[in-house]
Amino acid sequence: MTLEDIKPIELEGVSSKRPIIIAGPCSAETEEQVMATARNLASNGIKIFRAGIWKPRTKPGGFEGIGVEGLEWLKRVKSETGMYVATEVANKAHVEAALNAGVDILWIGARTTANPFAIQEIADAIKGTDSTVLVKNPVNPDLELWIGAMERIYNAGIRHIGAIHRGFSAYGKHLYRNLPQWHIPIELRRRIPNIQIFCDPSHIGGKRELVAPLSQQAMDMGFDGLIVESHCDPDCAWSDKSQQVTPDVLNFILNMLVIRDTTQSTENLSLLRQQIDGIDNELLETLNKRMRVSREIGQYKKEHSMPVLQTGRYDDILKTRIKAAEEMGMSGEFMKTVLQAIHEESVRQQIEVLNNRIK
Ligand code: PEP
Ligand code: MN
Repeated sequence: MTLEDIKPIELEGVSSKRPIIIAGPCSAETEEQVMATARNLASNGIKIFRAGIWKPRTKPGGFEGIGVEGLEWLKRVKSETGMYVATEVANKAHVEAALNAGVDILWIGARTTANPFAIQEIADAIKGTDSTVLVKNPVNPDLELWIGAMERIYNAGIRHIGAIHRGFSAYGKHLYRNLPQWHIPIELRRRIPNIQIFCDPSHIGGKRELVAPLSQQAMDMGFDGLIVESHCDPDCAWSDKSQQVTPDVLNFILNMLVIRDTTQSTENLSLLRQQIDGIDNELLETLNKRMRVSREIGQYKKEHSMPVLQTGRYDDILKTRIKAAEEMGMSGEFMKTVLQAIHEESVRQQIEVLNNRIK
C-alpha cells in the first residue's frame, strides 16, 4: 500500500475526536481583521486557525495575498490566543518563510496540487523538517494526481499528511462552486484507509448557506474534520466573500452538526447487509444476461450490415426506464447514469462481436 506510515495531525491539546475543526478567513487582510477573527474563533473553542498569506488567483487583478507581513500576524494569533496556525504554500520561498514564522500546518492549494513540478519543489523545501502538511485535491477530478502529490511529500520524509476535499472545477453554472464528486474522496479512503480527510465546505459550496448542509454530509460520510472559511466581517472580505461565515455563525453550524459514530454492526444490520449482498449478486447476473442478449443483437447486426448505434432505440430505452424509475421513487438522473453506463458496455461488447473478437 502506498503512504503506508501516514499519520494524522498530532498537535498537543487538539483532540482527534471527529470533527477536527480548522477555521479562519480565506485571506489575512489586515492585522485587525486577523486578530478580531482569531479571538472570536478561539473564544468559541476553535484550536486551529487558517488564513491565506499568498493567494493563487484564477485571474490577475484580485487580491493576491498580503505576503510575509501577514506571517507576523499569525505569530500574534499563536501567542495571544494559543491557537495553532495554518497557511497555504505554493513554492520553496513560501515554505521557508512559513516554517521560519512557526506556522504549524502547511496546506497545498488545489491549483498547486495539479502541478507536479510545484509539488516537488515544496517537497524538496520541506525535507528534513517535522512539518504537518494538508494536501487539497487538484482542481480536476484526478485521484492519482492527488495521491501522487501526497506521495511526493511522503517521500521527502514527512509523515503527518492529511487530505482536504474541496470539490472539483466544472465548466458552466452549477449549484456548487466546485462539484463535490464524493466518490473520489471515498475512493481515496478505500485506497488509503488510515488517511485523515478534511472537507472544505466553503470552497465546495461557494455560498454561505451551503456550509451547514455540506458539513453535515461530510460528517455522515465519515470525514475526520472540516476546514471552514470564517471572517469577522464576511461582506467586506477581500476574497471569497460570499462563502465566508462569521465565527458566531460557524459556532452555530458546528453545534447543530450530528455526529454518528457507532461503528459496531448489530445483528439486524448484518442481516440487512446479507440481503444487499444477495441483491448485488442478482444484479450482476441480470446484467450479465442482458450483455449476452446484447451480443446476440450484435451478431444479428453484423450479419445484416447494420450499425451498432441506433439512437432512436437508445432514446426510447432512456425515456421508458427513467419514467419507470421515477414512478418507483428513484431519481431520474440516477437512472440515466446507470443506463448510460450499461449502454456504453453494451456498445463496447457489440463492437467486439463485429470485429470477431468475441462470440
Ligand atoms: C483557500 O483555501 O482559500 C483556497 C485558495 O482554496 P483552493 O486551493 O481549494 O481553491
Ligand atoms: Mn478561499
